[in-house]
Amino acid sequence: MRPDDIRQHNLSLLLSHVHRDGALTRAELTQRLSLSRSTVGALVGDLAQLGLVEEVVPNGGARVGRPSHVVAPHACGPYAVGVDVDVAHVTVAAITLGGTITAREVIATDGVVKPDGLVRLVVDAMRRLGSAVASPGRVCGIGVSVPGTVDVSTGLIGVAPNLGWEGVPLGEMLEAELPTQAPVVVGNDADLAVLAEHERGSARDCDDVVFLIGRIGVGAGIIINGVPVRGRDGHAGEIGHNVLDPSGPLCHCGKHGCIETFLGEGALLELAGRRLPRTDSKVAALFADARAGDVAALGAIRAAAETLGRTIANLLNTLNPERVILGGSLGDVLELARPDVEEAVVRYTFGDAGPGVVLETPAFGPDSALVGAGEVAFTALLADPR
Ligand SMILES: [Zn+2]
Repeated sequence: MRPDDIRQHNLSLLLSHVHRDGALTRAELTQRLSLSRSTVGALVGDLAQLGLVEEVVPNGGARVGRPSHVVAPHACGPYAVGVDVDVAHVTVAAITLGGTITAREVIATDGVVKPDGLVRLVVDAMRRLGSAVASPGRVCGIGVSVPGTVDVSTGLIGVAPNLGWEGVPLGEMLEAELPTQAPVVVGNDADLAVLAEHERGSARDCDDVVFLIGRIGVGAGIIINGVPVRGRDGHAGEIGHNVLDPSGPLCHCGKHGCIETFLGEGALLELAGRRLPRTDSKVAALFADARAGDVAALGAIRAAAETLGRTIANLLNTLNPERVILGGSLGDVLELARPDVEEAVVRYTFGDAGPGVVLETPAFGPDSALVGAGEVAFTALLADPR
């Protein structure tokens, strides 16, 4: 490697450590990077000059002697824009190095957003966020989470059934309209959610993890041996359309009895005898009522819990993950009916994989996909901070 390439590699490595783990001392960085103290000192100096890190005295360190400085993400450094496209609303957020969400906007879309409408919405929201964020830093990348299949190399959405989108070049459309040269990265919501939880959430210490997300639809983000599994066309994890019962309800994909027709939010509302169409507030009310002891609501959730356990068992038999994280409404189902979910997992899993798996809710609550969108938006900067 040429000296310049080595420097780029080391700057990338050092900034990635600070981005993922927060403030670190020079001694910790020296140990982690297996470099000399003077080399680390020079790298920190370079990153500070670029406005990416700063050396600060940590709060509450009133010990005797000289306080030890830590290398932290620069408070006024560049920020990423994370966009989470859900069917009923779109969230646009500013996320700093270190992964902190510093500003956000949630825009209701009433269930219908067209691709060009989404582009306009993001451009407008970014302008407002730019004046709302405390730091005057530049935008280093835009990450977009969509509930659909995505070619991550081009940002082309294959199909996003619940949005009614097919063959949408969303990455190109955004790059053409955004008032910045920053790169745009588009990803599937479950893929980005599992990425966020693996990088800095509930699955940090775990290299075999599945994130099962339940919104209007149901999908899975998969990491095996520490590597994201997307498949040839980005369809891996589209388990919402695995058929549980061919004589079940008609799915919008044309088949009968898909998992989504039992575990999607519309299905949960129907199970509880609530009126469709599904809205965010109706879903929130269903879970609030179940928590308050409403018998019909709780009964519906317990029925869904059995189906959820069977779905998880199928995942365990196929992928044998160490952990399954349940996000969106499926996280609520787990919280309200964990024994029912676990019992079905044990009953339907081959061998002893069932009792061994850990079922968890996401560290980022409803924000996993949004945080994941921020993570991929930092990719270019982290790869070459110069
Ligand atoms: Zn289907």
